[in-house]
Amino acid sequence: MSNCIFCRIARGEIPSKKVYEDDELFAFHDIHPVAPVHFMLIPKRHLASLIEADDSHAALLGKMLLLAPRLAKEQGLDNGFRTVINTGKGGGQEVFHLHIHIIGGGHIPPMVRRD
Ligand code: AMP
Ligand code: ZN
Repeated sequence: MSNCIFCRIARGEIPSKKVYEDDELFAFHDIHPVAPVHFMLIPKRHLASLIEADDSHAALLGKMLLLAPRLAKEQGLDNGFRTVINTGKGGGQEVFHLHIHIIGGGHIPPMVRRD
């Protein structure tokens, strides 16, 4: 998609702090980090969200999930990290180009409070 912000970042038309790039994937630091390390991993080809994904994306999605720990380690997250994929308006997604947030390095609170 020509005017999608993450497509434009992947094409280098909008500057970003690049973490990783190969022929299919691109990773860059979030402009508003919520932790000391916060970057995003995206497919270069536009895919709006997990809702639009189908069987043809299985290898791509697998590649993204397998790359996440490698990149997290390279960014200094030796002790683990959080992955977040916001999906659709109901999931709080704001940029409609699929992305995995990879977050860590500070205090990461539990996702679900039981108190
Ligand atoms: P989401 O709510 O999952 O769609 O999150 C979108 C994320 O994209 C937010 O965390 C934003 O801070 C981040 N973001 C938006 N524009 C940029 C940009 N130009 N460079 C880096 N991160 C961005
Ligand atoms: Zn896009």
